[in-house]
Parts: sequence; C-alpha cells; structure tokens
Amino acid sequence: METVVSGIRPTGNLHLGNYFGAVKNFVKMQESHNCYFFIADYHSLTTHPTPADLHGNVRNVLVEYLAAGLDPEKSTLYVQSDVPETAELYLLLNMNAYLGELQRVTSFKDKVRQQPDNVNAGLLTYPTLMAADVILHKATKVPVGKDQEQNLEMMRTFARRFNNMYNKEFFPIPSAFNFGEQLVKVPGLDGSGKMGKSEGEGNAIYLGEDPKKLRKKVMRAKTDSGPTEMNQEKPEAINNLFKLMNIVSGEDTFQHFDDLYNNCQIRYGDFKKQLAEDMITFTEPFRERIADLNSNDEYLAKVVKIGAEKARESAVKTIKEAREIVGFRKFY
Ligand code: ADP
Repeated sequence: METVVSGIRPTGNLHLGNYFGAVKNFVKMQESHNCYFFIADYHSLTTHPTPADLHGNVRNVLVEYLAAGLDPEKSTLYVQSDVPETAELYLLLNMNAYLGELQRVTSFKDKVRQQPDNVNAGLLTYPTLMAADVILHKATKVPVGKDQEQNLEMMRTFARRFNNMYNKEFFPIPSAFNFGEQLVKVPGLDGSGKMGKSEGEGNAIYLGEDPKKLRKKVMRAKTDSGPTEMNQEKPEAINNLFKLMNIVSGEDTFQHFDDLYNNCQIRYGDFKKQLAEDMITFTEPFRERIADLNSNDEYLAKVVKIGAEKARESAVKTIKEAREIVGFRKFY
C-alpha cells in the first residue's frame, strides 16, 4: 500500500470548496492508501499566531476534518508538533538547502510581498519543512494542487540530494497523487470563479454554517436581470450558482431550474431559495458532527494521542536511520 502524506493548515473553517476540492478526496484516499494527515502547527508559526489562537485553530481544524470524514482508524491523523522528529529532519535537510533556490520559490516571493515586515527564516525554509513532513514517513505520494507543484519539486530535490550526498537510496522520491477527473473547482457566491475564505465575506459557505446565515449569504449572491433569449449562454455569476446547485441539489432540481433558465422563465428568488435549502440539507450532518465533536474533548484527546503514537512510530525509525547515515554515532 502506497504511503501518502498531506498537511492541513490550521486556519479558518472548512468551506464547500475545501470539501469538494480536497477533503472528499482525502476521505476516499484513506480507503486505499496508507495516509498520514497532519495539522501543520509548526508551519503556522511563520505568521506569528498568539498561543491561544494557535491552539484554538488546531482544535478547530481537527474537529472539522473529523466531521468531514477523516477516520482516525483508517489513517494517521496527528498534530505536527507532537512529532518533534519532524523538526530534526527539517534541520538535517536545511544543511543541504541553498539560499538561492529557496529565494526563487514563488510562494516565498508572494509572502515577502504580503508580509514585508516579517520575512523570517521559517518562511524561507518552508519548502524544507514540507519536504521533512513528507519524507519523514517515506511517502511516495503527495496530493497537491497546481499551486503546490513547485513545492513538490523542492521536496523531490531535497530527498534526492540527501540520497546522493550519502550515496544511499534512503528516501523514496515522492510524486504527485493524481486525483484525475475528480479534481473540481467550486465557485464562490460573489460571481468570482473560486470559493475561498480570503475572497471576502459572503463568498464561501462553510460546512458548519448556521442555516440562517447560510440563507442570507445565498440570497445576497450576485445575479443579473435575467435571460432575454431562449437557451442563451449563462453569464459567469449565474453559471456559478448553477454549478453550486449541481453539487448540492438533486439532478431533477438542477434540470428543473436549468429548463426555466433556458425558457427565460427563471425567478432568481425561487432559484436561490432552493439552492439555500439544499445547501442546508447537505451541510446538516456536518453541523451535527461538528457540534458533537466540539463537546467531546475526551474523544479529541484520544484521537490526537493515538495519531501521535502512530506517526512517531514511523518518524522515530526514519530519524534513527538518518542519524546513522549522516554519521552521528553514539559514544554511550
Ligand atoms: P482556502 O484558504 O480558500 O480555505 P486553501 O487554499 O487553504 O483554501 O486550500 C485548502 C484545500 O482546499 C486545497 O487543497 C485547495 O485546492 C482546496 N480548495 C480551496 N478552495 C477550493 C475551491 N473553491 N474549489 C476546489 N478546491 C478548493
């Protein structure tokens, strides 16, 4: 069984875009792969969260990913800082990572633009920490989106470089996990092409969204004055709402409103009301599970503890071997 590693950023709440674009695939992947999912709290220190925020964010994503279907019995779900071997491998890899190549990484250059007052070494060496996360478990596959391709290339470089330096095929060279046809882009409610939490309030629908708020967001979604010609092409904002309906509603409902649009009889008020109700129905089980998990600290503690134990099992083994390879020998 192939080993797959994927990180979860401890920021914000899961929205439908995250669910259909990533988490749903993770849930499926855990049936056929040896999966490690970690909450990337070391990584998040690059933005200097307060201690209280940091813990709250980690807990929140833990709850939401569990509610969305990550199963701690099928995969290893852990908090990155519970596995300090990650930090040691990061250190070892940093010794063979060069300033020039790290400075050329697009996501680093973006961060320099976004937070010019906090260009710390953690940001620069983000790719070595990412590489450590993955090769710590000798993973062969990493599920990454298009925007992460450069980081994957860096992981491959660092793994190869370690192997070459010590003349040993120690780390497998990870490649992209290909979801193939299953990769979808979920549009936002504001007429923009993508649902995302950074695209502004009102654009994203969260899995734990309060039904009242959800209704309000959908009813406020951007539309136009309606179709004027039979079977005309839908403008982007309208097409996006249809795409969302296609995801959350039944086929008959979608067809019904598509026919109304094509006959120029659609009433956007009814259309959006239906979309909102179907979104509420779709998110209902998630809301319930989130509430259940939020009131069950004992269960959360158990999940995290078991995850840390499982992750450390493979991490300790890798680090022990890596230490020997680089030449650390015990005197005592
Ligand atoms: P955000 O910051 O908008 O919540 P992230 O950039 O943290 O999203 O992405 C987390 C994961 O969710 C990634 O795998 C990303 O590809 C996926 N994702 C985010 N938004 C969408 C979307 N609108 N459609 C499909 N996938 C998405």
